[in-house]
Amino acid sequence: MDQSPSITIRASAWAGLFDCAYRFEGIHLLKMRNVVGLRAALGTAIHAGTAAFDQGRLDASGVTADDAAGVMVDKLRDPGNEYDPARDDLTVGEAERVGISLLTKYCMEVSPRYQFVAVEMETKPLDIDCGGGVIVRLTGTMDRARIRKAEHGVGIADLKSGSAAVQKGVAVTKGHGPQIGTYELLYEHSTGEQITDSAEIIGLKTNGTPEIATGMIANAKRVMVGTETEPGLIEFAADMFRSGRFLPNPRSLLCSEKYCCRWSTCRFHEE
Ligand code: SF4
Repeated sequence: MDQSPSITIRASAWAGLFDCAYRFEGIHLLKMRNVVGLRAALGTAIHAGTAAFDQGRLDASGVTADDAAGVMVDKLRDPGNEYDPARDDLTVGEAERVGISLLTKYCMEVSPRYQFVAVEMETKPLDIDCGGGVIVRLTGTMDRARIRKAEHGVGIADLKSGSAAVQKGVAVTKGHGPQIGTYELLYEHSTGEQITDSAEIIGLKTNGTPEIATGMIANAKRVMVGTETEPGLIEFAADMFRSGRFLPNPRSLLCSEKYCCRWSTCRFHEE
């Protein structure tokens, strides 16, 4: 008989556990609210535009770069979650200009290089038995990711935006392994097909001159599931859920008053 899950986590949120688990606990178990700035809202809006364009390519429904820009601007003006425009050194007008320029570049120059087979794919729920009667269920869509097909078969292409998403002409891949590993695992679980190609990060830089570049990540799933002799990140996660003890990481890039909802009560961060 199936056991019902103790907790359900969105697939796109799971990797946050391996950044700062204490922050993850604050957001997903203690339900602390994160108020984001305009730059984060810009990222969300750009992703909505790229997804509309790529889905349009898949469906051959004729979505143009202009249509995608419209989706982006609508999303930016009405982000649908709490955000505080005063949090960033950016006006809505500037955010629109950056967003349209990046999105146009993506639609005209980057997306056509790929053969996508799925955009932000819905996954089949995956239960992780943590022991002690605790079941964590991963669910939802692969937000911001695509499944791409190339000469080595299928692989993940994950879009990441941010002010430092591209450095020295290459997409920053550091820190994205757990997210990619989770998506690879969920793809195989959902479809019954193997991932056979390395994953790729498509980075979109939202600060300064708009720039888009890629970077590769290999063996991400193995890091998540481990090997016969070495535990994977899922085992460490199971330990945390079973014990209820979530490790803080004051070295996280998100460890700041601006990005962490637990900042005001967390005793572990540096001032
Ligand atoms: S303030 Fe820093 S250490 Fe504390 S929960 Fe947030 S990210 Fe983690």
